[in-house]
Amino acid sequence: MNVFIKEISSNNSPNQQNPFVVVLGAGESGVGAAILAKRKGYQVFVSDMGMIKDIYKRELLENNIDFEESGHNENFILEKAALVIKSPGIPDKAPLVKALKEKGIEIIDELEFATRFSKAKIIAVTGSNGKTTTTRLIYHILESAGFDVGLAGNVGFSLAKQVAEGDRAYYAVEVSSFQLDGCTKFRPYIGILTNITPDHLDRYEYKLENYIGSKFRIAQNKQAEDIFIYNAEDENIAFGFGKFWKQEGNEGCIPVSMSALASDSEYLVVKHSDFSIKKSDLTIQGWHNRFNISCAVLAAKQLGIDNEKISEALSTFVNEAHRLESVCTINGVEYINDSKATNVDSVFYALEAMTKPVLWIVGGVDKGNDYSPLFDLAEKKVKAVICMGKDNEKILNAFKNKIEIIVESGSMQEALKAASLYANSGDVVLLSPACASFDLFNNYQHRGNVFKEILSSAMAELENK
Ligand code: ADP
Repeated sequence: MNVFIKEISSNNSPNQQNPFVVVLGAGESGVGAAILAKRKGYQVFVSDMGMIKDIYKRELLENNIDFEESGHNENFILEKAALVIKSPGIPDKAPLVKALKEKGIEIIDELEFATRFSKAKIIAVTGSNGKTTTTRLIYHILESAGFDVGLAGNVGFSLAKQVAEGDRAYYAVEVSSFQLDGCTKFRPYIGILTNITPDHLDRYEYKLENYIGSKFRIAQNKQAEDIFIYNAEDENIAFGFGKFWKQEGNEGCIPVSMSALASDSEYLVVKHSDFSIKKSDLTIQGWHNRFNISCAVLAAKQLGIDNEKISEALSTFVNEAHRLESVCTINGVEYINDSKATNVDSVFYALEAMTKPVLWIVGGVDKGNDYSPLFDLAEKKVKAVICMGKDNEKILNAFKNKIEIIVESGSMQEALKAASLYANSGDVVLLSPACASFDLFNNYQHRGNVFKEILSSAMAELENK
């Protein structure tokens, strides 16, 4: 175990004035929390089971924060900690977390810690799908409208670090269920719950109800004057309202109907507001994105942003990579990278958004997928299924009597080769895997980048011919 302790001495036991904070997990959120804690005068110790990335090690050293890596010094932590800030990646069943709980030591998330020191209005987005897109939309609209706003949370930037560096007036924050599990007083001014589909159930005793309960923590401290924007037709959200809703009544709740957004009309009309926009002025397409945009618009309207500014922002929005990202067109065939689609629900909306015949690259590590919700759309839109993974059996069986052309491939190179073989001008090759990537890639970003690199080499070759 590597331990980097310079200033911890035996007499710095926890006390009220200068409590001892232990941060478990030295990633973006943990290091941010440690920096904020240090600035606020806490004694801080960071502990990570694995190796700490160099960039974070450097930040800890620069801020004079003691840390250890490649293991937890449990006795030390149990003896010293008055408050623990836990990385959302560490499950409650981890032995150290269990021991801390048994001792009655408070364990919280970085977001919970950060908001204890911030006066900002928080716009928080959670849900199984659409979090990043919606959070970024809100950030972009606010920023374009001249607001003093930060982008934080699960999108990849620590809220605590931003608060440490100087608080802002607003934050658009992406919040995962794991982060919510570590929140007790977190109270966003605007909370958004996009949808709930079964995910991460291994962390919730394989009970969907527990996962729903976790998502509803986004509104657990909601007061009548706060806003809650939610998916009106999601049956798991309806269940959550019955079981986990804490507020008296439903003042400040704004439902967003998915079905109202399914129409072929030329305009996207956002109900419960006076906002509408021509669909052709939007930079992101698809039914699911019309929903995400509606949520973002409703949040912006609550903050008093006028329609013109919202329209302007929507027409300049650039989404994160790997989400229905149009990469290039080669010989009349468009290539779309939707590597972030790691579950069946997100593939449903990807296929729904396709307007040309699809050569669909799918597969990876199956997380217990049921492919049946995709059958109708696949039969209508998919010309060829190109399986890409170490074990393609389940996908082969699911689609073998439905789609005429099914090809197996064991790498991105092979998958793209197969796709280009069957594609004609006017078709689209869609990488939308419905699966995790760990059999062939490090993560979904790596998978999407390999897709793009191969295409960019192919483009370069064409240009040199
Ligand atoms: P998250 O941050 O929740 O993972 P993203 O915005 O990154 O969500 O999108 C992840 C995937 O989910 C993308 O492939 C996208 O096509 C799909 N998706 C985005 N928004 C929605 C939505 N509202 N409903 C269903 N799927 C969505």
